Amino acid sequence: MTRIFINYRRQDSEGYVGRLFDHLTRHFDSKDVFMDVDSIPPGADFLTVLENAVSACDVFISVIGPQWVTISDETGTRRLDNWNDFVRVEIASALKQNKMVIPVLVGQARMPSPTVLPEDLAPLSRRNAIELSHNRFAYDADKLITAIKAYAPLNPLNKIPANDETVQRKADQIKAVRLDLVGATTAPLYKFRIASRAFPVIGEGNPDANIIFIGEAPGKNEVETGRPFCGPSGEILDEMLKGIDLKREDVFLTNVLMDRPPEKRDPLPEEIAFYEPFLDRLIDIIEPTVIATLGRFAMEYIFKRLNLPEKRSKISVVHGKLVKTQMPYGEIHIMPLYHPAVVLYSASQKEMLRKDFDKLKLFI
Ligand code: URA
Repeated sequence: MTRIFINYRRQDSEGYVGRLFDHLTRHFDSKDVFMDVDSIPPGADFLTVLENAVSACDVFISVIGPQWVTISDETGTRRLDNWNDFVRVEIASALKQNKMVIPVLVGQARMPSPTVLPEDLAPLSRRNAIELSHNRFAYDADKLITAIKAYAPLNPLNKIPANDETVQRKADQIKAVRLDLVGATTAPLYKFRIASRAFPVIGEGNPDANIIFIGEAPGKNEVETGRPFCGPSGEILDEMLKGIDLKREDVFLTNVLMDRPPEKRDPLPEEIAFYEPFLDRLIDIIEPTVIATLGRFAMEYIFKRLNLPEKRSKISVVHGKLVKTQMPYGEIHIMPLYHPAVVLYSASQKEMLRKDFDKLKLFI
């Protein structure tokens, strides 16, 4: 969650600001992008209201157009010289509060020199600016987004990414789990795997993911490729991930069963019991801070493993509700979700699934 404040002058840059807002809200939640402080309650000290609004942001964008320096009010006074000019008050407040202030130049404006700025805005001219042009808008705006993301304070609910060496170690450990599974001839579904010339499906994604998604069992498409969620349920899952700005490579996807059961039936208790240690090992290696379960079997597995009071709850009651608990390596959140396949059976469930997925944004 990065809160972004856009400071601008309507007469000077409105066309650009609308486009910029649209672009930013494709990458950040729209409720985290503020454009106007539009309600100052009667009797309130407007300087305090503006100061508070600025203090709530992580990144402050000052949009500067060609007339930004010179625009004057109806009395002929330059707006920037008015002590109560909103644009000036907000920028001065952001600078005073040591916010990350990024000047964004539009309409071929140049960065104003300190000599033309009131004293409280003079430090603005030392901030490195980004140019936004209409012709290269998407390219320029992406540069701004990269700068914002690079600065964004680390979400306390997101884990600190491991260094390259640790990520490699984790990847090697996951490979070792896969090899053990390949050689596990006592697996209840081993004979079916061999007879149908199928691959086991251990899972894939970021070996250091913050979020692990656990599904039910691989289907035909998955065992033909050895990759989880690459059939119709996978398409829904991809859509849900995209909706919260995540890619498969950001998370780790796996299943309660790691072989396909015949005849599309539910997993049997002895099958779940057999694959459980493999799943436990994956979780211990990856050390996620969120386990998102897809469907009832994954939910039951994790609630039982952690012996949580919710272990007898129905998915219809607990879906979309975060459960906080502890793992040996730290705090963890369980997010029970319906299986994406619900949408294949009933399209009207898509909205509900989307809303539940939205709650994962807390951890991104
Ligand atoms: N359904 C699942 O639960 N897992 C997969 O990998 C694919 C479909």
